[in-house]
Amino acid sequence: MNFYVMTLFPEMIMHGVSESITGRAIKKGAINVKAINIRDYTTEKHGKTDDYPFGGGAGMVMQVQPIDDCYTAVLEMIGDTAKKPKVLYMSPQGRRFDQKMAEELALEDNIIFLCGHYEGVDERALEIMKAEEVSLGDFVLTGGEYPAMVMIDCISRLIPGVLGKKASAEIESFHDNLLEYPQYSRPEDYKGMKVPEILLSGHHANVEKWRREQSIIRTLKKRPDLIADAVLNKKEQKFLNELIKAENKPGNESEKE
Ligand code: SAM
Repeated sequence: MNFYVMTLFPEMIMHGVSESITGRAIKKGAINVKAINIRDYTTEKHGKTDDYPFGGGAGMVMQVQPIDDCYTAVLEMIGDTAKKPKVLYMSPQGRRFDQKMAEELALEDNIIFLCGHYEGVDERALEIMKAEEVSLGDFVLTGGEYPAMVMIDCISRLIPGVLGKKASAEIESFHDNLLEYPQYSRPEDYKGMKVPEILLSGHHANVEKWRREQSIIRTLKKRPDLIADAVLNKKEQKFLNELIKAENKPGNESEKE
């Protein structure tokens, strides 16, 4: 997977992704990250890439010319490929990024991110790039660099060879639309707080069952909006129905808090 990040702050991207798991994945060649400085493509003699918005208003707008030329250069770097690169503009106005989108994007070969700054980018740049807008959430950041890094991190861990053999991205929160079960490590007893006995039993099937049930309990409690689309077998569905029934029992109001 190749990630191309069009930005005014390439060092910010490269510092961010060079550490930890993404850093190791880059070294191993499981992913490639290239940050391209939009400023290198401006034809303005002082290196300017932004200007005042037509129609007035506060702030500056990233101009179309440097973005257009930078985009052309990125397409040349990628060259002819069987699969068209995915082009994304980081924007608070876009479709909300989530695990499902990450899973879809992990199947791409080349992803181009455009990071805006100031008041955003000239609309014509988005038309030229036919960019899909992607948001990290309903809040406004100063630039698209953190969203691009978050997405690179999240997508990368779904790419084979990025996580170590022991770690798996498969059984984690949002898999089957459930949150992950509680995790424990050594010691077994910490200041009287004991690890659930079942986890020490060595009985794999029982541990699995317990974990799935804990996932269902947690999701219902912490993220009830996810539970309707949870992928459950018949027994698990029955377990969930019983939980809901118990929750709705009269006299149980305080427990719902
Ligand atoms: N004026 C724009 C608006 O109201 O839609 C916001 C511009 S914001 C200050 C500057 C840049 O930060 C945007 O162009 C975008 O690239 C990035 N950005 C801000 N919030 C974001 C979010 N929630 N998700 C993704 N990118 C975001």
